[in-house]
Amino acid sequence: MNLMWFRSDLRVADNPALNVASQGGHCLAVFYWTAKQWDAHDLSPIQRDLIARQLRSLEQDLAKLNIPLLIIESDCFAEIPGSLRSLCHQYSIQTVVSNLEYELNETRLTQQVETTLAEAGISYHSYHDQCSVRPGAILNQHGEMYQVFTSFKKRYFAEFDRLVRPLAAMPEACQSGSVKSDLTCLPETLHTDWVGLWPAGEDEAHERLQVFIERGLKHYKARRDLPADDGTSVLSPYLAIGAISTRQCFQALQSLNGGSIDSRQEGFVTWATELVWREFYRHFLAAHPRLCQHFPFKANTDGLAWSQDDALFQAWCRGETGYPIVDAGMRQLNQTGWMHNRLRMVCAMFLTKHLFIDWRMGERYFMQHLVDADFASNNGGWQWSASTGVDAVPYFRIFNPQRQSERFDESGDFIREFVPELASLDRRSIHNPSPEQRRKCHYPAPIVDHKRAVASTKQQFAELSSHSESSAQQALPLGEQA
Ligand code: FAD
Repeated sequence: MNLMWFRSDLRVADNPALNVASQGGHCLAVFYWTAKQWDAHDLSPIQRDLIARQLRSLEQDLAKLNIPLLIIESDCFAEIPGSLRSLCHQYSIQTVVSNLEYELNETRLTQQVETTLAEAGISYHSYHDQCSVRPGAILNQHGEMYQVFTSFKKRYFAEFDRLVRPLAAMPEACQSGSVKSDLTCLPETLHTDWVGLWPAGEDEAHERLQVFIERGLKHYKARRDLPADDGTSVLSPYLAIGAISTRQCFQALQSLNGGSIDSRQEGFVTWATELVWREFYRHFLAAHPRLCQHFPFKANTDGLAWSQDDALFQAWCRGETGYPIVDAGMRQLNQTGWMHNRLRMVCAMFLTKHLFIDWRMGERYFMQHLVDADFASNNGGWQWSASTGVDAVPYFRIFNPQRQSERFDESGDFIREFVPELASLDRRSIHNPSPEQRRKCHYPAPIVDHKRAVASTKQQFAELSSHSESSAQQALPLGEQA
């Protein structure tokens, strides 16, 4: 009998590990519900809820293949290796398989599982699944991970056909046995509106992909920055838990384009590029695991005297900053568990560049509230916005929230939806209501002055740069100074 250990790959189709596990005649599947470990990782309740419902759906899909699913409650990762070994003894399992995860604790867990099982004489095999191209396969001429996204992307597109293997075939039906699925430890859903917002299931993920490919892809480039439009795929929650793979997304593109992911069609290539951003951040994380320990990629930015001002932070969290577009974004997150990409950048940049609050506080808040919470993409997005990360926005290019609002929510419809107290305002004043309008609408005054905040942030970064340059010069041996 083989054991399939599910992690962030909660699907049957195109699942490399499940494919192998199903080939042994008998197969059993297991998933560990690790609430305390997830608390330590700040995993949002809304994503846990989606995972629980996805597991119920997965159990039914697996039942069609005669593969029972056991959900085991386990406080933390440390308990998993021993538990897997016990399962192997209990059910006479010879081989355990899983797909890999690349975060630091997850990588250590994989190593511990491998060691524990090896000591018990049980074989363990792991597969790359989270990225279409495995981390470490796209390297620069020095054999290192790229630090510039466009160079990575160019190489990625060029190597795609050579490196991406075809979709895994569907797993085979196994022989039925006497073991029964056990999902008793799964919590019931906390909020019924989450079920409607984020229906679970592989079919749901594929339907979203199909609808987007048919109706959204063509206009993606033009519409993807407009939060009031449904211009993006909203597949991120399903990618985050592995209800669908990026390979399946790329394959949907390939099937439109004679088997290639390189196209001149604007929407096509722009969406493919977004998928590559996801891969880039994962590859980068695998190459720089210390990112999981809250370090900025640009080490010198740890010298910035980030603020920890709780009152300002709480106002940002609640969506009460007095900047309508920022508040609309934060309230979208609080109400739905998802935020449009443009607004993630606007809100993250507002926290870090206007309030000068430590990006790690915002990163954590996002992890605690996003249904698509994903360490690599979230850390990448936050460090991009804070100018501390790889290929980040230059520190002096700070979004003006009012300008962003006028550009990307021109009519103010998105603000009207999520900041209803401003709904009566016209399309011009809604982006920055007058003091009188704010009073009448019971909407707060801006918590910071845009110009002053931006000037102060630029100065802090400029001082850091000049300090870093002079200390780098001091560190150079005499004769090597420029
Ligand atoms: P689409 O526009 O349809 O794009 C398709 C897919 O490409 C997405 O589902 C996603 O997997 C990937 N993608 C798109 N944009 C990016 C990007 N900038 N970086 C990495 N991958 C991308 N994404 C997450 O999945 N989880 C997070 O926790 C997360 N946190 C973020 C935090 C900040 C501060 C920022 C700026 C971005 C963050 N992103 C995160 C990236 C991006 O905002 C979301 O992936 C995107 O909004 C999801 O919507 P969609 O599925 O409609 O994307």
